[in-house]
Amino acid sequence: MRILLIEDEKDLAAFITSLLKKAGMAIDTAHDGEQGIFLARTNNYGLIITDYILPKLDGRSLIQELRQEGKQMPILMLSARQGTIDKISVLDAGADDYLAKPFSSEELLARIRALSRRPHNIQSDVLTFKNLKLEPESFKLSKGNKNIKLTNKEFSLLQYLMINKGRIVSRETLLDHVWDDGLDSFSNTVETHILRLRRKIENKDEKIIHTIVGRGYCLDIRK
Ligand code: CA
Repeated sequence: MRILLIEDEKDLAAFITSLLKKAGMAIDTAHDGEQGIFLARTNNYGLIITDYILPKLDGRSLIQELRQEGKQMPILMLSARQGTIDKISVLDAGADDYLAKPFSSEELLARIRALSRRPHNIQSDVLTFKNLKLEPESFKLSKGNKNIKLTNKEFSLLQYLMINKGRIVSRETLLDHVWDDGLDSFSNTVETHILRLRRKIENKDEKIIHTIVGRGYCLDIRK
């Protein structure tokens, strides 16, 4: 899952970034509200985490604008402010949840899991394709009755392909959804990860990830 974090406290932003990366998520960071709303409009995020008090555009206005534009992704608000009035005003503006600072890593991860389980978000559904079964909640992939160990990136990549089974997914789309902004899109990292993934899930008689030359990759549901 690709996440946008909008937080002007750089130490906290760095802490959350490393926490979420370890949990297998791709994360982009903005340090003020204007940069945040720009990224939220430009990219496809599975979740936005935003601070309340931000330079240039505050978290509440940012959420309101995104909702008015029809953006549906779950949004978690962070804030050092306490009290029910703020909480209600934030939820009214269109945030899905609210977490008061300071919070523990466990609590943040639990809130993220809960938000990604909501119906408008398919990121945590169990996915199947042929005899593959991928369980995002427990970070497990099995093929028949055999468990297969994947790296975080391989897991996210396969998850995205399984969500889109039957459709051709371009390299650019994969870069957009599975990788974060820090990556040079000319690098061969998509190809490298597809290759490693194939070695783990395919054998010589069975192709799972098909390459459609010039267009992308596909889990073909007809074969
Ligand atoms: Ca702040």
